[in-house]
Amino acid sequence: MTMENSSFISPLIRDLRPYQPGEQPLDAGVLKLNTNENPYPPSPRVIDSICDEANRNLALYPDPESEMLCATIASFYGVRHSQVFVGNGSDEILAHAFSAFFRHGHARLLVPDITYGFYKVYCQLFGIPPLPVAVDDALRLDPAKFAEQAQAEGDIAGIVIANPNAPTGEGLSLDAIRYLLAINPDRVVLVDEAYVDFGGHSAISLVAQHPNLLIVQTLSKSRALAGLRVGFAIGQESLINALKGVKNSFNSYPLGRLAQQGAIAAFEDLTYFEQTRKAVIATREHLAQQLAGLGFDVLPSCTNFLFVRHPDHDAAQLAGQLRAAKILVRHFPQERIAQFLRISVGTDLQTARLLNVLAGVLGRTAARRESRPAPPAAGRHCTQATQSTK
Ligand SMILES: *Cc1c(COP(=O)(O)O)cnc(C)c1O
Repeated sequence: MTMENSSFISPLIRDLRPYQPGEQPLDAGVLKLNTNENPYPPSPRVIDSICDEANRNLALYPDPESEMLCATIASFYGVRHSQVFVGNGSDEILAHAFSAFFRHGHARLLVPDITYGFYKVYCQLFGIPPLPVAVDDALRLDPAKFAEQAQAEGDIAGIVIANPNAPTGEGLSLDAIRYLLAINPDRVVLVDEAYVDFGGHSAISLVAQHPNLLIVQTLSKSRALAGLRVGFAIGQESLINALKGVKNSFNSYPLGRLAQQGAIAAFEDLTYFEQTRKAVIATREHLAQQLAGLGFDVLPSCTNFLFVRHPDHDAAQLAGQLRAAKILVRHFPQERIAQFLRISVGTDLQTARLLNVLAGVLGRTAARRESRPAPPAAGRHCTQATQSTK
């Protein structure tokens, strides 16, 4: 942006640092392990139902409240229809939720320092001051730290976490969620469960007892529908009604007809859902073992990705070497996690390709090292003479 026209732009927007999504290459030969999409296609019933709908009513506006989809989701999770809200991807719901629940003057929003990058962006967009709460050295979230911060602050705007967390993969217990709800009774606790179907514990069962709990999920990961853009939220009626109010002040029709019908079919094909998510979980376990065998530190994961670091190899450089072999993984050049790579779990075949390339890359680098003169041995073998040659 040039200086001359910057006066056209609202000050808040001028200074925005938007979220950078992982790359979507046009080259079909690239193996995408960088944005945690499902490696399997959506259920065939989803495709059928989208085609049916495309042949019917596209000239007409969709149902603005997506009633059928909300009813489907409600019965799937055993909650009331009025406790479900849907949006154009869960990112849109998160935006509405930040706007509806976290703007309380100067009160700060508690958010883990290592988590989904979009939370910080929404804070900026809506003028919500964030208060990062540090995860521990193993990158685990410590609920007691949230309590300390909440107490020190007096008034907080709320709490947002991802459970399982991204990009670390850690899953929290329901007790931890209950604890966060209890230390923050007057504000919303938003739990983003984008990855919960891959082994996390959903807090949906807590909604009935906790008016301050809002859960957000997506069909982008476990239901292989990132391209359709459907997310949903579950919470008590007053929170859901607030989200509807924001939505109806913004866009009456966030979900098209194809998205509504496709999403309904995705929930109806339970067999396919179970098959594919179990396949992803099984491949994740295999991949974790193999990566550990190659010398990686692999964080425990309840998701469809692994967060890994190699003690002898720079993460950015490894990502570059994989890219040269047409494999994309995610590297966040960010304090505390700059030496990690986030690798999405693919199919078994894709995983074999990744491991093959990685073994080659690590092997070549190691071979280069071996061809150099060996470094002087450490400790008491280190002689005066060796040191003086430095
Ligand atoms: C992928 C992801 C989202 C976004 O999901 P969409 O429904 O595709 O917008 C939200 N939160 C987390 C933690 C994610 O990883």
